Amino acid sequence: MEPKDRLKDLISHCKEYGFIFPSSEIYDGLAATYDYGQMGVELKNNIKTYWWKCMTQLNSHIVGIDSAIFMHPTTWKASGHVDAFNDPLIDNKDSKKRYRADVLLEEYLEKQNQKIQKEVEKGEKRFGDAFDMEQFLATNPNVLRTQEKINEVHHRMKKALNDSNLEDLRQLILDLEIVCPISGSKNWTEVRQFNLMFSTSLGSVAGESSTIYLRPETAQGIFVNFLNVQKSGRMKIPFGIAQIGKAFRNEIVARQFIFRMREFEQMEMQFFVKPGEELMWYEHWKEARKKWHLNLGMGEGNYRFHDHIKLAHYANAACDIEFNFPMGFKELEGIHSRTDFDLKQHEMHSGKKLQYFDPSTNESYVPYVIETSVGLDRLFLSVLTASYHEEKLEDGSERTVLKIPPALAPYKIAVLPLVKKDGLPEKAQEIIQMLRMNYTVQYDEKDSIGKRYRRQDAIGTPFAITVDHESLQNETVTIRHRDTMLQERIGIQTLTEYLQSHCSWSALLSKLH
Ligand code: ATP
Repeated sequence: MEPKDRLKDLISHCKEYGFIFPSSEIYDGLAATYDYGQMGVELKNNIKTYWWKCMTQLNSHIVGIDSAIFMHPTTWKASGHVDAFNDPLIDNKDSKKRYRADVLLEEYLEKQNQKIQKEVEKGEKRFGDAFDMEQFLATNPNVLRTQEKINEVHHRMKKALNDSNLEDLRQLILDLEIVCPISGSKNWTEVRQFNLMFSTSLGSVAGESSTIYLRPETAQGIFVNFLNVQKSGRMKIPFGIAQIGKAFRNEIVARQFIFRMREFEQMEMQFFVKPGEELMWYEHWKEARKKWHLNLGMGEGNYRFHDHIKLAHYANAACDIEFNFPMGFKELEGIHSRTDFDLKQHEMHSGKKLQYFDPSTNESYVPYVIETSVGLDRLFLSVLTASYHEEKLEDGSERTVLKIPPALAPYKIAVLPLVKKDGLPEKAQEIIQMLRMNYTVQYDEKDSIGKRYRRQDAIGTPFAITVDHESLQNETVTIRHRDTMLQERIGIQTLTEYLQSHCSWSALLSKLH
């Protein structure tokens, strides 16, 4: 299936089963804004819980906060967002479509990488077992030519971005003959900088002094509370502060469903360390975050690291964890070594000391910071992407199934009476009462059992319990596994223990430690 179709399939599945709806749909929607429905909110909350528990509950040296979306306007002057939170935009004069100049170039580079990949696949076929990847990459003339081109473009792009040289950026797009995907033309405007922050006014008096911003990242709420948390929590360095919350960016190109929205949620953690130890901790968090993602069991091949070409003004090392979305590999999470930039800036603009007193050396210093920042909505999309399967079954029928990691599934269990009579619904309700304190449970008695299984597959319920006449006689039920569709008969009294080992938080978390 074409990648584009896969995204479309996901979007319509999400709408049909109550995961995600276009925002204000009755008014024809609002661009790049979405609402999470009754299934979506459960999955989203579960993803949050997985992150929150791992960050705070399983790390004795990380605590959480929940800071306000509105912050003093000077925050954004200090952080550099007022002056530098820009994206270079370019318009195609024929299609009137707007693009990010750096993204057009990244996409060009990705195409060149794919060319190399194709050559490698050809080589593998031709040489079979004798294929030596390293030698092939070092000697194949087509690969060498493409690699040289990549290096050259990479170098020019990095320089243009670092120097904020918008003319060079445009020239590079022209030289590479990059065309607009809609009009197919090379008729480009100049490149301009565009600030991504939304502003609004505070109180009833409009004017320059009352202009405030909707936060474009949650991180600054953590920085300004650094001392509050450190002192009130008696935190010793190294320690971290975690936060989940909404962020807002007036994105130039907000397409691709929930991948890029103007209102989205971030899960960020700032880890405060001793100056000089930051790169060691940077490596630590790269590894730890990768492990956290892989623990969901969505396939190692779906993740890769990407080192930043252009380092943000505050960073001395940065990379992304990319995920294989339906549109290809794209950023899921950023890991940044932010130095002492933010705290120093806030010291300067606020006139308050933001330093840590180290009792072991009797010294005070401004800590360095490693940040892990993941988009909740992008994580949601990654889970859907990896979980969505259309399967042809042995009897010729088809099913759409979401193989969501069990602990994240909106509903863990469906309880289904085989028929709507003979005391089976009552028995089913008894089982629900027993389980609902610990698990999300759905009851369904409508339609044939086969149809009910399909409905649960489509929302990703990992287990369906069927109550039949035998259940009344010997206190057993059948439990059907979503992924394999296999069924087994188990005692009602053992259900709690069974679910505990298959879809509880501890089942998921214990694999990490
Ligand atoms: P991109 O390069 O894709 O614009 P970014 O590098 O600007 O992303 P960061 O500032 O590092 O992103 O933000 C941290 C995380 O927040 C990203 O890894 C992503 O998961 C998420 N994120 C950023 N912008 C958006 C958005 N517009 N919609 C949804 N999630 C977003």
